[in-house]
Amino acid sequence: RATASSQAIKPINKGVVHRICAGQVILDLSSAVKELVENSLDAGATSIEICLKEYGEERFQVIDNGCGISPDNYKVVALKHHTSKMTNFTDLQSLTTYGFRGEAISSLCALADVTIETRTKNETIAAHLSFDHSGVLIGERKTARQVGTTVTVTKLFSNLPVRSKEFKRNIRKEYGKLISLLNAYALIAKGVRFVCSNTTAKNAKSVVLKTQGSDSWKDNITTVLGVKIFCCLQPVNIDMPDGCKVDGFVSKPGQGSGRNLGDRQYIFVNSRPVDIPKVNKLVNELYKAANSKQYPIVIMNFSLPTKECDVNVTPDKRKVFLSAETSILLALREGLNQIYSPTSACYTVNNFG
Ligand code: ADP
Ligand code: MG
Repeated sequence: RATASSQAIKPINKGVVHRICAGQVILDLSSAVKELVENSLDAGATSIEICLKEYGEERFQVIDNGCGISPDNYKVVALKHHTSKMTNFTDLQSLTTYGFRGEAISSLCALADVTIETRTKNETIAAHLSFDHSGVLIGERKTARQVGTTVTVTKLFSNLPVRSKEFKRNIRKEYGKLISLLNAYALIAKGVRFVCSNTTAKNAKSVVLKTQGSDSWKDNITTVLGVKIFCCLQPVNIDMPDGCKVDGFVSKPGQGSGRNLGDRQYIFVNSRPVDIPKVNKLVNELYKAANSKQYPIVIMNFSLPTKECDVNVTPDKRKVFLSAETSILLALREGLNQIYSPTSACYTVNNFG
């Protein structure tokens, strides 16, 4: 093994750098599809269809009815750090879109074969675009399509040998994680219809998720998790200091989901699905006082001023920094204590219509 000091320092080939960095943005199947679904939501879509082939291993496609991509942008859409959502650093403090770094499409290009079909309301005909691994537009032809965008990603990770092997080995697990993430978007994205289907060589197309795109939590929870689960939930609405609040649902004291830790616990910050393990830990701990045998289902959306949270902590944007974390957790504890303390009315009264 050579020691570092004995070698000349040289820049890494640009394409290699791109592939390395792309592998940090697109970690797995669910982070890849997540980026596309978020782009569709950012484009104002009210219908998003996710089509998988062989659980996503062979191909996945996200089809939306959003605003589409205008012809001026065909050449730059897949270039690294090209975005229509942010220009200045200060924009980061007032972001209301899911995306902002212009990394997703370019990263997917680096790790897979990517094509885009798109049309805005200003065109009468759509374009079919193909890109090389550096995100350069290499093919463009006309095609028929409604207004909106379809992104097709084929053979993800085929040029990252280790990841590719892991990906194929764990594909069922990755698929499960993806469905759970899509459930999270279907719960939180009001007025957006989601359909997800999977096609395999053995089985014809099977629809694994289908929602109506309702504006109400109740409809979305009933469609995604089932009416039985909905009836076991208790609404949570807690006002917190500094204009923060949390809305959502948790299991009623005696009616947990009974499965594993973290199962069906959906946490959102300003409607973005995120991981805040401290919240799960707190809810689980308080729930335990009321019900030691089960775990609670948790659906919670924290609404915070955009300048109070930083989602740019990890490349996959799942981790967030909340400047008011301590006071938020404290207020959550107080609010949940009212539901889960043994003297709570929720024990005896079904106060949820
Ligand atoms: P980001 O979302 O951070 O801007 P992406 O690489 O995900 O970066 O997308 C790059 C750009 O491509 C977006 O800023 C947007 O303008 C455009 N785009 C991507 N997907 C879609 C879509 N489904 N509908 C409309 N525009 C899209
Ligand atoms: Mg994006």
